[in-house]
Amino acid sequence: MLIYTKIADIQAFLNAKRNSGQQIGFVPTMGALHQGHISLIKQAQQQGNLTICSIFVNPTQFNDKSDLERYPRTPEKDSALLEAANCDVLFMPGVEEMYPKEGKPNFDFGYLDKILEGAHRQGHFNGVAQVVKRFFEILTPHQAFFGSKDYQQVLIVKALVKQMSSPIDIVSCPILREPDGLAMSSRNVLLSPAERLIAGTIPKLMAEAKKRIHIYGIANAKDYVKQTCEAIPQIKLDYYDVCHPDTLISYADTEKPDYAIALIALFVGKIRLIDNL
Ligand code: AMP
Repeated sequence: MLIYTKIADIQAFLNAKRNSGQQIGFVPTMGALHQGHISLIKQAQQQGNLTICSIFVNPTQFNDKSDLERYPRTPEKDSALLEAANCDVLFMPGVEEMYPKEGKPNFDFGYLDKILEGAHRQGHFNGVAQVVKRFFEILTPHQAFFGSKDYQQVLIVKALVKQMSSPIDIVSCPILREPDGLAMSSRNVLLSPAERLIAGTIPKLMAEAKKRIHIYGIANAKDYVKQTCEAIPQIKLDYYDVCHPDTLISYADTEKPDYAIALIALFVGKIRLIDNL
């Protein structure tokens, strides 16, 4: 696996590959890699791409400074995992390399960056769009792979490429889960053993809420999620909502939709986790 830290170097390498007709697939990550990330690499490879994984803990997408500081960083382990997965290229730029100029662009995604994660993490999607746009301009991949665990992020990135009039194909990949159903996340390692057990109940909560949507409707499911979370002192619910999967517009509490996505964000102790079903 080739490892690059400088934009000019990776661009020279990619230009040569592109000129020889190679398709390029890109998997952006913040490191602390797990099998969920590796599943995106596999998907990129299966589509016949020369596969680039980036590791960059993007400071501009963190609304909470202590979250950024405690974000796990495991570069040696990450590099070994990528090597074992036969990833072609690892790109690990520093903050100076990514953001040589001061100032933050301002993106407008309409309502999409103001709901759910956007409402609870001020400026988060602006930071995500900033870093993804920068990576897309540096690497100009044919395809880019994102996990549907960050469901709203996938819609934001699709809106971004539209705004950029970019031909990059955005591929949404399924959520990989631990044996107890907890969505794999870099943040899971920050949970204490007791918190990790509690986090394992999130997918069960989501499954029960889904049943309730079908039988009783959304209001009942929302009450159930709220009351269950309130009964566990270590959990603080940020939101649970049931939305149209294409637009993320909330369904009314009185509805019993067949085509819907339920999204949850909650704290287990100090660690914020998200999931969807
Ligand atoms: P992150 O390093 O958390 O920014 O994630 C990098 C990419 O991996 C994003 O597109 C995530 O949605 C994706 N990802 C994270 N966790 C999972 C998972 N459990 N299954 C599939 N993809 C994931």
